[in-house]
Amino acid sequence: MAVVGAGIVGLAHALAAAKAGKRVVVIDRDPRANGASIRNFGFVTVTGQDRGESWTLARRTRDIWAEVATVAGIAVEQKGLILTVRRPEAVAVAQAFLNTEMGEGCAWLNATDLRGRHPAITAPDALGALVSSHELRVESRSALPKLVVWLSAAHGVTFMTETLVHAIEPTRIETSRGPVRAEVAIVCPGDDFVSLFADRIAAYRPQRCRLSMLRLASPGFRLPAPVMSDLSLVRYGGYAALPQAEPLRRRLAADQGAHLSNGVHLIAVQSADGSLVVGDSHHYADLPAPFAPTEAEACILDEFHRATGLNPPAVIERWVGTYAVAQDRTFFIDAPAPDIRLVMVTSGTGASTAFGIAERTIADLF
Ligand SMILES: Cc1cc2nc3c(=O)[nH]c(=O)nc-3n(C[C@H](O)[C@H](O)[C@H](O)COP(=O)(O)OP(=O)(O)OC[C@H]3O[C@@H](n4cnc5c(N)ncnc54)[C@H](O)[C@@H]3O)c2cc1C
Repeated sequence: MAVVGAGIVGLAHALAAAKAGKRVVVIDRDPRANGASIRNFGFVTVTGQDRGESWTLARRTRDIWAEVATVAGIAVEQKGLILTVRRPEAVAVAQAFLNTEMGEGCAWLNATDLRGRHPAITAPDALGALVSSHELRVESRSALPKLVVWLSAAHGVTFMTETLVHAIEPTRIETSRGPVRAEVAIVCPGDDFVSLFADRIAAYRPQRCRLSMLRLASPGFRLPAPVMSDLSLVRYGGYAALPQAEPLRRRLAADQGAHLSNGVHLIAVQSADGSLVVGDSHHYADLPAPFAPTEAEACILDEFHRATGLNPPAVIERWVGTYAVAQDRTFFIDAPAPDIRLVMVTSGTGASTAFGIAERTIADLF
C-alpha cells in the first residue's frame, strides 16, 4: 500500500494499514512533515467536536494517541480541558452541553471551586469553568518525527521523502523518483487541492483557513490543563450548534467584535519547558496570504489575559499555518477508483480525528 502525505492523516493511515497486515510505503514531497500537522497545538480535543461522527471519531483517536504515545516514546504533555466562562450566556451553553450525551466525563466548576482547584487561573470575572477529562496534548513538532521512527521500526513502514507523486493509476504510482508499485493507494494531501485528483477535490468546494499562532515564554508555573474560553463556545461545533449559543454569539459580537471578525478564540497549552502555545485566529480564502494581521495577535493575547487573569509572557515565536475547510463536512473519504482513496480533513481537527478516520478507510478497503 502506498500512502501519499506524511502529515498526521497519512501517518494514521500507515498505522491502520500496517495493523491490517499491509506492507506500507509513505511518500512525501518534503524531507519531513512541515505543514499543519506540526504547526498545530497538538491538542487532541474530544469535548466541543461536532456532535455525532466527529465526537465519536475524536474519542477513538484520543484512545489510539494514548496507546501510540506510550510505545513510540511521545510524551503526553497535558491532559483534560478547562474552559473558563465569564458571561451568563456562556454558562447557559456550558450547562446545555453538560446535559447532552457529550457531557459524559465533563463537569461544571463554579467560581469558588475553580479558584480552589486551579489557583493558577485568576480571571477575576470567571463565573466558573466547564472541565473535561477526555483531552490529551502532544508536542506535534517532536511527536510527528517520533511517530515516523516508530512506524518504521515497529511496523516496517518505509518512508520515501523528497518525492513528489504526480499521478496514480491502480498498481502504479508515478513519482519524481520513478514509478512505485502498490496494490492500493491512499492520498492524504492536506491542503494541496491540485496535485492529485484535483477534479474530485474541487467537487467538495474546499477553501483554506490561515491561523496565527504564538509561543509565549514560560509563566513560571504549570497550567493545570489546556485552557479555552467563552469565544470557543461559538466556534467549536459541539457547543456552537446548541440553541443556547445564539444569545452568546450576539453578546460576543457586541463585546468582542474584533475577536469575532478575526475568527479568534483561545487555546492555551503548555510544553515541557513551561512555554505556552497560544492561539488562534481564522481567516478564510482560496489562497490565504502569508501576511498575518497584528490585530489578530493582539486579540489572542487579550483573550489569554481575560480568560486566565495572567499577563501574557513575552512572545518567543510566531507562525501561521493553513488547513483545508469545507462548508458542509469535517472530513471526506473519496474513492477515485476501487483501490484508491482520497482522504482530507476539512476542518481544524486532523490531530483529533485522524486515527479514527484511518480505521474507517482501511475497514472500507479490506
Ligand atoms: C495552526 C494550526 C493549529 C491546529 N490545531 C489543531 C489542534 O490543536 N488539534 C487538532 O486536532 N487539529 C488542529 N489543527 C488541524 C490539523 O493540524 C490538521 O487537520 C491536520 O494536520 C491535517 O493533516 P494532513 O496530514 O491532512 O495535512 P498536512 O499536515 O498538511 O500533510 C500533508 C502532507 O502531504 C504532502 N503532499 C501533498 N501532496 C503531495 C504529493 N502530490 N506528493 C507528495 N507529497 C504530498 C505534503 O507535503 C504534506 O507533508 C490545526 C491546524 C493548524 C494549521
